[in-house]
Amino acid sequence: MGVPDWPALLDADRRHVWHPYGPMPGAQPVLPVVAAEGTRLTLADGRELIDAMSSWWCAIHGHRHPAIVAAMHTQLDTLPHVMFGGLTHEPAIELATTLVGLAPGDLEHVFFADSGSVSVEVAIKLCLQARPGRTKLLTIRGGYHGDTFGAMAVCDPDGGMHRMWSGLLPEHVFAPRPPRTLTDEWAAAVHALAEDPGLAAIIVEPVVQGAGGMWFYDPAALQVLRDAADAHDLLLVYDEIATGFGRTGDTLFAGEHVPPDVMCVGKALTGGTMTLAATLCTPRVAAALDGGPLMHGPTFMANPLACAAARASLALLDGWQGRVTAIEAGLTAGLAPARRLPGVADVRVRGAIGVVQLDRPVDVPAATAVAVDRGVWLRPFRDLLYVMPPYVCSEEEVAAIAGAVVATAA
Ligand SMILES: *Cc1c(COP(=O)(O)O)cnc(C)c1O
Repeated sequence: MGVPDWPALLDADRRHVWHPYGPMPGAQPVLPVVAAEGTRLTLADGRELIDAMSSWWCAIHGHRHPAIVAAMHTQLDTLPHVMFGGLTHEPAIELATTLVGLAPGDLEHVFFADSGSVSVEVAIKLCLQARPGRTKLLTIRGGYHGDTFGAMAVCDPDGGMHRMWSGLLPEHVFAPRPPRTLTDEWAAAVHALAEDPGLAAIIVEPVVQGAGGMWFYDPAALQVLRDAADAHDLLLVYDEIATGFGRTGDTLFAGEHVPPDVMCVGKALTGGTMTLAATLCTPRVAAALDGGPLMHGPTFMANPLACAAARASLALLDGWQGRVTAIEAGLTAGLAPARRLPGVADVRVRGAIGVVQLDRPVDVPAATAVAVDRGVWLRPFRDLLYVMPPYVCSEEEVAAIAGAVVATAA
């Protein structure tokens, strides 16, 4: 292997490789990354950037945490993969047991999926199988649950997904986005919509909506959803793929105070090393299948290498709350100056999540250049500049991240 010829590689990237939500050939520049360590990404030209996105919510302990790397090396040398049909292995059993112990309520059963979207598909199947004859879900506007068809159908109906696929997606029921502070009006709207006899379940991202608009709502709204579900024998599903494992600050899972019947986790599950997600459910849900099979079984289900990484990542969570609280304080102080900038519509912080919302769409290439100049990696979308730093960020790094966001908003 010689020294990589980056101009040629980037030309090949543009011609051959799709990037998320991108055209072909590629239209916007992409930065080549050659290494990642702790909070830092190293670019091909030697520059270092703080990964303020935790690589899309995943790398909560920073990149290449030695404990996760060591666990993965050991697993790689013994059993990196084996099919899960008719076979089992210690990493899956141990991880499932750990997840059940951490999860709120009595979520006792674990289905391992190979991505967040697939775990949502499994949650939807589970609910439809558990409520035979019913075909619809109730959800809230502004949500994001993944890019596969079942998941897309419960994403925000005003996002691009529904318009592009109208007529092809199953039709679900959408309640208004829950307000910052719960209102009787919102609760009444939810209760009215929940009367639809075709409904099997309610699915939401608890407290923080991610890729649908980075909206934070009143946790009390969850009790309204729980009551509406119970009143009509609907299952309550929390998609904790973005929020799980401490990100929102108060509790390990954002919806912990009002336990759901089904819960999806993903993203940070392996600490940002491997793709793995899981759908958990209560015995009541499992029993509703009446001993019948749950009709799903991905090829890479419960991949041992990913399960080993996840066990190591979960073992590192001790002390998460102090670190998330410190990041929350750092982001609150550091993003405050953005409030005074013209063109800033809102600034909000919750746990280790900071958002600056503009009154116009972000010019992504220009914003990226400003942040990169300050040594920070951001990936804005729509009118949103947002960050969710690794929990291991130092006070100085959090200040640098907030400073870059404010500079980008200016
Ligand atoms: C990212 C995300 C998903 C989809 O997960 P993938 O691993 O990208 O398929 C689903 N729900 C939420 C809330 C997410 O943030």
